[in-house]
Amino acid sequence: MKTDVVVIGAGAVGCAIARELSKYELDITVVDKNEDVGGDASKSNSAIIHTGYDASPGTLESELVVAANPMYDEIARDLDVQFERIGAILPAITDEQLEQLPAIKDKAMRNRVYDVEYLTREDVLRMEPEINPEVRAALYIPRESIIDPFVLVQAYAENAFANGVHFLLSTKVTDIRTGDGHIQSVITTGGEIETKWVINAAALFCDEIAGMVGKRCYDVVPRRGQFYILDKNTSCKVKHIVLPIPTKVTKGRLMSPTVHGNMLIGPTAEDLDDKTATETTAEGLKSIRVDVEKLVPRVNWRDAIIQFSGLRPNRVPEGLHVDTYEDLKGYINLSGVRSTGLTLSAAMGKYVAHLMVSLGMNAPFKKNFIGTRKGITRFADLSVEQKAALIEEQPLYGNIVCRCETVTEQEILEAIHRPLGARSVDAVKRRVRPGTGRCQAGFCTPKVIEILARELNVPASEIMKNEKGSYYVVGDMR
Ligand SMILES: Cc1cc2nc3c(=O)[nH]c(=O)nc-3n(C[C@H](O)[C@H](O)[C@H](O)COP(=O)(O)OP(=O)(O)OC[C@H]3O[C@@H](n4cnc5c(N)ncnc54)[C@H](O)[C@@H]3O)c2cc1C
Repeated sequence: MKTDVVVIGAGAVGCAIARELSKYELDITVVDKNEDVGGDASKSNSAIIHTGYDASPGTLESELVVAANPMYDEIARDLDVQFERIGAILPAITDEQLEQLPAIKDKAMRNRVYDVEYLTREDVLRMEPEINPEVRAALYIPRESIIDPFVLVQAYAENAFANGVHFLLSTKVTDIRTGDGHIQSVITTGGEIETKWVINAAALFCDEIAGMVGKRCYDVVPRRGQFYILDKNTSCKVKHIVLPIPTKVTKGRLMSPTVHGNMLIGPTAEDLDDKTATETTAEGLKSIRVDVEKLVPRVNWRDAIIQFSGLRPNRVPEGLHVDTYEDLKGYINLSGVRSTGLTLSAAMGKYVAHLMVSLGMNAPFKKNFIGTRKGITRFADLSVEQKAALIEEQPLYGNIVCRCETVTEQEILEAIHRPLGARSVDAVKRRVRPGTGRCQAGFCTPKVIEILARELNVPASEIMKNEKGSYYVVGDMR
């Protein structure tokens, strides 16, 4: 196989880069070891589109996050992604925290996030009545926003696909061949791909990819973040992202609504040496409860419907880097995309494309670039009249598969049959949400397996939860 550009990694960053590059007359191939687009870190995070108010001023990370935040109104509209500018509140509960507010505001100004404001105690309690009544004052960061992180990555990928990008999923990059100071080819579990450019967007594993071309000058140490998700009907909810004042050790644990109306609480920050350690722990979850109750004392933990964790690709030595090499033309190495990668993905796409132009990539702009993507109709969000009209048109909208989230069979069919469609139960869940409600898939999993098996024309025993080997059905009873 021959291509112009291989992007390694179909997470937020790899897919945003692929979409941006698909504006040029280039042959682009995205390769990912996972069975679905969506990445590793990109599907297990706080789902916040940051402003960059607290980034280290003057760094590439600050530059990209600050630049990316305003892009999301257009991205959400053009790519049909749920996104809400709900704003964040950073309450000072103690005198010591109160003293820290001016320094945090000063940092925001140095990052050119000028719309950060002080709130009085009265303002805070009016805007967010569940905040600890001992609050002294707060900072308000109006453009901190929430997004559907799964659909964002799917949308980048589907739009890139619509513009001709090839996706090789369940395909691991195992080596890279170089020669005469240039990239020659990428070796994968699916064969060799000749290419002029390689973009390493492999996040947790970007150090291993860098090692394949002799450019490993850092390690990636996974930093785990554990979370709780609370039911939509929980008794204590917040309307804004409620952020703790960071300490020297950690940025702390937040409480935030999700775009679907649940409460998301966490994360922890634990440095580990295992890049697959995505389990949650009693200790980690307890530390979240202790911290968050200082901000929002009435949180109802009995409404927790699931806990999960994600691994931040923490670079050692620290810092976000986009490296190119005089002695290895065509290779671009991204590393240290750690805690803000979902946000900065939009700007990173543009940054990398521009970098390639400055390095001599002279492909012309495509005349027929498709800039928009239509998402799957969310039946649950429609009015009674709209629902009735849809069922009239397409009766499978009348078959509710997930009762907690009101997900219909027709939405599941769309999740399976659209480009880069779902092949596993989790991939369906990330697209249209069966199993994300209060019963956590207790009722709908067999139904989803049955639909996947029928539509993909395979036995139910071949339907997986996610990766190869994660079977639900192991044989016939009768
Ligand atoms: C707990 C937590 C909270 C966070 N909160 C936020 C937040 O609120 N806002 C925000 O902006 N960011 C947040 N982040 C950070 C953000 O999630 C990441 O920075 C971002 O998702 C990184 O995207 P990525 O595409 O670089 O990596 P990933 O999503 O990890 O994708 C990398 C891809 O590379 C593939 N890959 C790796 N090795 C190979 C190989 N050899 N061959 C083929 N494919 C390979 C992987 O399969 C994976 O799909 C958070 C992260 C965590 C863990």
